[in-house]
Amino acid sequence: MADTRTFKGVTYRNGELPKSLMKKVNGKHGTRRNSDAYLRSDAADALNGAIAEIKRKYGYDLTIRGWNRTRAEQEKFFYQRWTTTPYRGRPTKRWNGRTWYLKPGYAAASAPGYSNHGWGTTIDVNDFGGVGNFNHPNRKKFYPILRKWGFDDSEGRGHIREPWHLEYKDSMNKMKGKHKAKHKDNSNSKDWFDMATKKDLEDALLSVLKSSEGRKLLAKAVWQTDGVISAPADTDTKKNPHWAAEGLVKAARSNAIEAKNAARAAEAAAKKG
Ligand SMILES: [Zn+2]
Repeated sequence: MADTRTFKGVTYRNGELPKSLMKKVNGKHGTRRNSDAYLRSDAADALNGAIAEIKRKYGYDLTIRGWNRTRAEQEKFFYQRWTTTPYRGRPTKRWNGRTWYLKPGYAAASAPGYSNHGWGTTIDVNDFGGVGNFNHPNRKKFYPILRKWGFDDSEGRGHIREPWHLEYKDSMNKMKGKHKAKHKDNSNSKDWFDMATKKDLEDALLSVLKSSEGRKLLAKAVWQTDGVISAPADTDTKKNPHWAAEGLVKAARSNAIEAKNAARAAEAAAKKG
């Protein structure tokens, strides 16, 4: 692990993220949901985006119980869990020139200065399942959204087996500048949506709107794509079919596979009546 990281031209050590690079995460956090939480600003922005999207789609308040850990907090944590008093058969760790024994009943914590929470980019999510359980329903529902916003679970899936432990990786964030997303051709270029004219799409949309199931699915697609389809809700798509047709075009031509699938399902439902 590198000894320092650099963000926005500022180099900092583990546990010493400067205040100028920190940002508050929206909402109240901690196991009791009464604390403010801070992360490096890029990670905070991304988490705020994911929290908003989860709230919008599921009505759920995602909270975290672990965020940036200062050096002092890391030390407090470490001394709670490790002792120089020998405990036979307990895990040991070398730190600061001494051997430390993990106290019975405690989970391991990193040595001060080596916490993966010390860079301001790592979070522990509340209610994401216990150790080794990567199938908790909350995690299954919400992790894909967090991942889209750049939160990676590879460290949590490693030897620590912590389904709640996620690390923000800027290079993985697909939601940065999404409003500037270029129209990309899909590999599946013969897709009906790619071939359709604007008139075709409007006709398709009108048939979608004739079916209540189709309207429901279209509304779902609108939510799921979060701006790729720009019409805000089914009632509005009813009032403004041209606008919604525009949304279908965008969905089809962008990389939003889920939008495309939802729009396609809406269309198929409409055809069935
Ligand atoms: Zn963690």
